[in-house]
Amino acid sequence: MKKVLITGGAGFIGSHLCKAFLNKDYKVICLDNLFTGSLDNIKDLIGNNNFEFIKHDINIPIKIKVDEIYNFACPASPIHYQYDPIYTLKTNFIGTLNLLELAKENNSLFFQASTSEVYGNPLEHPQNEKYFGNVNNIGVRACYDEGKRVAETLCFDFYRKYNIKLKVIRIFNTYGPNMLENDGRVVSNFIVQAIKNNDITVYGDGQQTRSFCYISDLIDGIIKMSEASNFIGPVNLGNPEEYKIIELAQKIIDLSKSKSKIIFKNLPEDDPLKRKPDIHLANHRLNWKPKVKLDEGLIETIQYFRNKIER
Ligand code: UDP
Repeated sequence: MKKVLITGGAGFIGSHLCKAFLNKDYKVICLDNLFTGSLDNIKDLIGNNNFEFIKHDINIPIKIKVDEIYNFACPASPIHYQYDPIYTLKTNFIGTLNLLELAKENNSLFFQASTSEVYGNPLEHPQNEKYFGNVNNIGVRACYDEGKRVAETLCFDFYRKYNIKLKVIRIFNTYGPNMLENDGRVVSNFIVQAIKNNDITVYGDGQQTRSFCYISDLIDGIIKMSEASNFIGPVNLGNPEEYKIIELAQKIIDLSKSKSKIIFKNLPEDDPLKRKPDIHLANHRLNWKPKVKLDEGLIETIQYFRNKIER
């Protein structure tokens, strides 16, 4: 039976990935320091004989025998990764290095969750994998953006020097159940505000764009990437349907039948003006493209937060 280690396994994406691998009859070791991850996300998995949770920080080396390592351990929302930027950088460099050493010792697959943030505030649109990006390396987002960029560099140097089995994906904005209520990201903020009939906080004029991928589509892409032969990536995984933030706000108000009003707040520093993945590579190499429409995914996510808030 294949044994996989999922770091950040109690987080939003990690917890869905744990579930997906258990469904494939793998043995899953979920490692998380619970900095932004939550035991609530994995409560249904605890008790499954093939599932084990270890509270651990990847910045501290760990010896563990596994066949595959999925590195999803890093705070990913701007408010969380900027809360302790040096820790974010450390996690991306030291943490990733520790796990790459482990992959080398075990001769196990190393699967890195990278991000669209490596493209920064992009000057090319949509972004394809060949674009080197436009990152302010001394700005407030750099701890995450540059952290994730150097993590990719480490991965590829381990690949070149030690020939490790490597896969790298770049995840674009993803949403769905198991996001934290106080995650700070746009979808969870707007939904929680709408359910509570509080003001919807649009940053800037709301003309900036993002493209939102529902979690089940992302997980499908991750599994396809993990199974693909002779393909290292990096590969973009995201939904290319692009929306203005102001459109998203209105959509969430309508879908949740909320009485909330839209208010405008300052745009955070270095907030990218637009973002949209070019997914031709994923489509061609993985035969993958997202299926869930934004309205459908939002309805599911609104229901999830309603249940959570009522609880
Ligand atoms: N945003 C917003 N209101 C919020 C939270 C976010 O208008 O309450 C905007 C934010 O400025 C950005 C976009 O929504 O332009 C997406 O932000 P998020 O933090 O979700 O992710 P990012 O793609 O910036 O990492």
